Amino acid sequence: MFENLTSKLESAFSKLKKIPTLKESDVKSCLKDVRMALLEADVSLSVVKNFIEIIEKKAVGEKLIKSTTPSQTIIKIVNDELISLLGKSNEGLNFKSNPPISILMVGLQGSGKTTTSAKLAYFIKKNFKKKVMLASLDIYRPAAQEQLKILSDTVSAESLPIVKDQSVIDIAKRSLNVASLNGSDVIIFDTAGRTQVDLPMMTEIKQIKELVKPTETILVADALTGQIAVNIAKNFDDAVNLSGVILTRLDGDGRGGAALSMRHTLGKPIKMIGVGEKIDDLEKFHPDRIANRILGMGDVVSLVEKATKDLSEKRIKETEEDLQKGIFGLDNYLTQIRQMRKMGGMEGVMSLLPGVNKIKNQMKNASVDEKMLVDNEAIILSMTYKERKNPKLINGSRKKRISNGAGVDISKINKLLKQFKMMSEMMKKMSQGKKIPSGIVPDEILKNIK
Ligand code: GDP
Repeated sequence: MFENLTSKLESAFSKLKKIPTLKESDVKSCLKDVRMALLEADVSLSVVKNFIEIIEKKAVGEKLIKSTTPSQTIIKIVNDELISLLGKSNEGLNFKSNPPISILMVGLQGSGKTTTSAKLAYFIKKNFKKKVMLASLDIYRPAAQEQLKILSDTVSAESLPIVKDQSVIDIAKRSLNVASLNGSDVIIFDTAGRTQVDLPMMTEIKQIKELVKPTETILVADALTGQIAVNIAKNFDDAVNLSGVILTRLDGDGRGGAALSMRHTLGKPIKMIGVGEKIDDLEKFHPDRIANRILGMGDVVSLVEKATKDLSEKRIKETEEDLQKGIFGLDNYLTQIRQMRKMGGMEGVMSLLPGVNKIKNQMKNASVDEKMLVDNEAIILSMTYKERKNPKLINGSRKKRISNGAGVDISKINKLLKQFKMMSEMMKKMSQGKKIPSGIVPDEILKNIK
């Protein structure tokens, strides 16, 4: 999402680094570049103006010029202001009411509202251990209620039995009763979306809101639509008083402006972000991590969280023990490949790594791609247990069998075995006393991995 902005900002700051004695005019010219980069990323003009003014006040002056690392100081100031622009810290969901509590999801058609409702049900079930019910209040789009019912089953949430020809208000009333009866803690209401903001839509949402008294009224908005998403949010907020926003499609190649303007323009938090089509592609919105990503400093915390999310503690411990002993078998390699694919493949991992923006295209050309992960997984799965434990066994005829099994050329098997050999040698070296340097991964996360 932020690639272009990141590379523009990186180039603005790298110009500063090259100047031996910094003058005030150099700082001003750098901030001009920052301003252009933000405008090109579709951040609204008033937000950019305000942002640059604050930074200018902090960055221009004796103190900065005399500092030993002026460019670092400026990056730090920009980083701090970005965090504050994005909302300082993550704002969690409000569950403070008697169960069943209601969460109202609103937004335009196609914004990702229905998918996000199901993702949110999954997120709340998993992280808060609450019983969640999904209820569709969309009586206009054919099959909308059926779509949500199928999604409820996918995430093992409670669903509302469909009764034909009921009014929206009647469905809402029935939802409250059913949820009380089946002991649900939370009801997520997926309201109808329209192609544009209109009066009947807002009136209907107001009526529903009065009836179900939600603790959260969340707008689902498509980040790819940039400033339009911010304007839509403003309209909804004026009419129905939002409690927060979920921005979807942050995995797309939009320019990122919506994420940067939303908080300042709306005065309401972005609570979560959609980062893909899968059911667990919904994340908390952390201003500091996003700021780090925008400035090309990577998001190591999210990376480690992603890596540990789906691994059982037992498996993590086993792998760690293996690695510490210098054991790195093809089974460990397979776990790594699967983990990598779960994390969104090479693209997903790389978008979170520090300084990777610059080498991203080079990596693409170096054939480290998604297809390679898929092929490698198929190759390892076509090996016998003994071959995985002892790859030296894999001679010509075994390679032929594996190649048939995996449906790949023998050259790919050779490549994988070579890569594996290099990696296991590296692991051996690392296991000889070298640990992860402290500070790279925060202690709280290391504790969870160990
Ligand atoms: P609705 O009309 O607002 O209810 O939209 P849907 O929930 O039906 O979503 C429309 C499309 O957007 C579906 O294909 C979803 O899979 C997709 N979608 C939703 N959220 C995201 C996201 O965060 N990233 C990506 N890439 N696709 C998403």
